[in-house]
Amino acid sequence: MHQVPFHRPCLGIDEEREVLEVLRSGWITTGPKAKRFEQEFAAYVGARRAVAVAHCTGALHLALWALGVGAGDEVITTPFTFTATAEAIAYLGARPVFVDIEPESLNLDPAKVEQLLQSGRLKRPRVLLPVHFAGQACDMNRLLPTAECYKLKVVEDAAHAAGSAIRLGHRGMVKVGTIGNLTCFSFYATKNITTAEGGMVTTDDDVLADRIVVASLHGMNRDAWKRYDATGSWYYEIDDLGFKYNLSDVHAAIGLAQLKRVDEFQRRRAQIACTYNEAFGAQAALQTPTARADVAHAWHLYVLRLRGERLRIGRDAFVELLRRRGVGVSVHCIPLHLMRVYQVKYGYRPGDFPLAEDAYSRCLSLPIYPAMSERDVDYVIDTVLATVRDNLR
Ligand SMILES: *Cc1c(COP(=O)(O)O)cnc(C)c1O
Repeated sequence: MHQVPFHRPCLGIDEEREVLEVLRSGWITTGPKAKRFEQEFAAYVGARRAVAVAHCTGALHLALWALGVGAGDEVITTPFTFTATAEAIAYLGARPVFVDIEPESLNLDPAKVEQLLQSGRLKRPRVLLPVHFAGQACDMNRLLPTAECYKLKVVEDAAHAAGSAIRLGHRGMVKVGTIGNLTCFSFYATKNITTAEGGMVTTDDDVLADRIVVASLHGMNRDAWKRYDATGSWYYEIDDLGFKYNLSDVHAAIGLAQLKRVDEFQRRRAQIACTYNEAFGAQAALQTPTARADVAHAWHLYVLRLRGERLRIGRDAFVELLRRRGVGVSVHCIPLHLMRVYQVKYGYRPGDFPLAEDAYSRCLSLPIYPAMSERDVDYVIDTVLATVRDNLR
């Protein structure tokens, strides 16, 4: 039986060469490769600054910390995300305030954000934290004016959105990473580009960037890594507590090679999404994902939804059948308000966010990555369509 794993990273000779160079250089942790990765990533998205960190979770933590978010503050975000988004808010003693999603994009609903802020129910709203779900930018043309009106800073969770872009009012087409005050990327193994584990914060604000550079390595002053260098000094100052979130040169080296292929990866992902959409569009039991006209979708995930009224089986059984037939599938996302920790800590309950729950009950993510062959794509399509046909009502 043919097997298509849910994900396989696309790593080649360039990644190997870059990593070998680091291993043989005598300097394996944060150093020249990380610095070059920062410069090239900043240039790629068009941001003034980029700070490489150990993971997106740390990037989010540092971004909120740099804005001074603390106990009692409220951060508005979506429940339809990975736990890391809300976890980073909770690390600082702040409260994740969930707002339901748009039924089509599955992104934070700007109208509901506006409604909540207008209602006056929030005590100390400080930050708006949109997640660009599946690689499609949130409707920033509506979210930014709301944030400005209520004096909220904007931190974006762009874990799915390296390479994603949106047409932003007067600025024209801009890449995600240049929109809010701070943007956080993930280079986890399954993300659009990977460093195995890694993340990046981008910003146009030098003060915030410098604060994050220092905080990402124990609060040591800039270039503390040079202290082992012949030109460096053993002396450093610590003015504030920091974190241990630096990215090693071994990881950064992989990122440098991946970054060269980000646009090529992107085209292949878009092509697979298009092929899936053509194949599934005519099947009434399936709801295919769409891309808004004002975005360049990064297609990190291909999230298909089942129309339960047309099928004899539910999502869980459908996923199990695909797995048995060799197609690796996943489910994005399990809404955070359904998780015990967010219920116990913040009082969320099932039923709080009906659109997130509806999406969760019907969604599954199909394999979509550049290492897929045409045969893999065809096999996924045939298997999904056969599974639907076998189980129509
Ligand atoms: C993967 C992911 C993260 C966390 O990224 P790490 O680099 O693994 O810390 C955060 N938010 C979302 C939406 C993610 O999918």
